[in-house]
Amino acid sequence: MIRKARLYTPGPTPLLPAAQFAMAAADIHHRTPEFRAIFQKVLAQLKVFIGTKNDVLLLSSSGTGAMEASLANLTSPGDKVLVLTAGKFGERWTGLAKAFNLEPEVLSFPYGETFDLAQVKAALKPEHKAILLQATETSTAVRHDVEAIAKLRDEVAPKTLLVVDGITGLGTTHFDVDGWGIDVIIGGSQKAVMIPPGLAYLSVSERAWAAMETAKNPRYYFDLRKERKSAAKGETAYTPAVALIAGLGAALDYIAGQAGGDLERGRIALIDNAQVNAEATRAGLVALGFALFAPTAPAAAVTAVKVPEGMDSGDVVKALKTRFSIVPANGQGEMKGKIFRLAHLGFFDYLDTIALLGAMEHVAKETLGLPVQWGQAVAAAQEVFAKTASRV
Ligand SMILES: *Cc1c(COP(=O)(O)O)cnc(C)c1O
Repeated sequence: MIRKARLYTPGPTPLLPAAQFAMAAADIHHRTPEFRAIFQKVLAQLKVFIGTKNDVLLLSSSGTGAMEASLANLTSPGDKVLVLTAGKFGERWTGLAKAFNLEPEVLSFPYGETFDLAQVKAALKPEHKAILLQATETSTAVRHDVEAIAKLRDEVAPKTLLVVDGITGLGTTHFDVDGWGIDVIIGGSQKAVMIPPGLAYLSVSERAWAAMETAKNPRYYFDLRKERKSAAKGETAYTPAVALIAGLGAALDYIAGQAGGDLERGRIALIDNAQVNAEATRAGLVALGFALFAPTAPAAAVTAVKVPEGMDSGDVVKALKTRFSIVPANGQGEMKGKIFRLAHLGFFDYLDTIALLGAMEHVAKETLGLPVQWGQAVAAAQEVFAKTASRV
């Protein structure tokens, strides 16, 4: 039998064919009217995709580049920042804060859980220059409540900047970026926007721009003020990833096309799509007897699943790969071997979920030896789809 390769990793995610064509056709120079037209269109589309009136910038780097850029541009050595963490990507904020000689106060919560808001409230102080967090913690498949954190900031430390790693949150979570006062929110190309790795994008509030005027940490390649100036002329400060930007434009066109050309509604449809697929996946896997790693605050971007005691999640990963050419993600760090993760962000549809759950029935029965009735996981997902699809 033949097998089609299918990525179910939470970045890189499956590529949109229309974006691949646009990338292949993009042999243009970046200091030309042709590129400026594409770049300005993509920046305008990204504002709608993020849902903000703030400036949006594109950087030729992976997502972590924009995390680094945020700290380099907003902070000075010795600044205190509050890091909210419950996983590997939260820990990345701590590492970055230390690298820029900040004084991070780290409030950490167990893997698989979200933040306790009372503890956040008690820890947050007006002297914190910024709060650093993830919208969704991809390593544990948890969604954090950005709106609640924003409200606490308004209440306790209204001058503190809110810097959100939305790299898997954007396109899977509804945000009111301007209404909640998110100062920086960061996205990455290899997640919900269906193109390969290599671009980061971020929106920057007026307060954040003002903070950059006095911030003293060093920056050169990631000088956001320089990028803002160039962007106003339709350019980038340095040679951009031209092909990825062309692909991003095609992907955002596709997302708009899902709602008759209206990108805002297309974004909402994409988010609802991830939410329904995540819910259907959770229902299917629970019906098979698996336990969720993050049952209390599950993300729509990705689902993390525990394997029964004594089993290794690497066996599930291997079986999906060798039998079905499906590529899931193992756990990261100390979660390796204990969980596996399945993505829903970007170019996944309901039928991808059904296919995955069908394969999971085989793996559960034939690899793990669990008692499985054919159709058990698929039927549970169909129940979810039948109930929710009419709503979205
Ligand atoms: C993928 C991801 C990142 C960025 O990782 P890069 O490898 O630098 O693109 C950061 N945060 C979260 C939550 C992610 O999912």
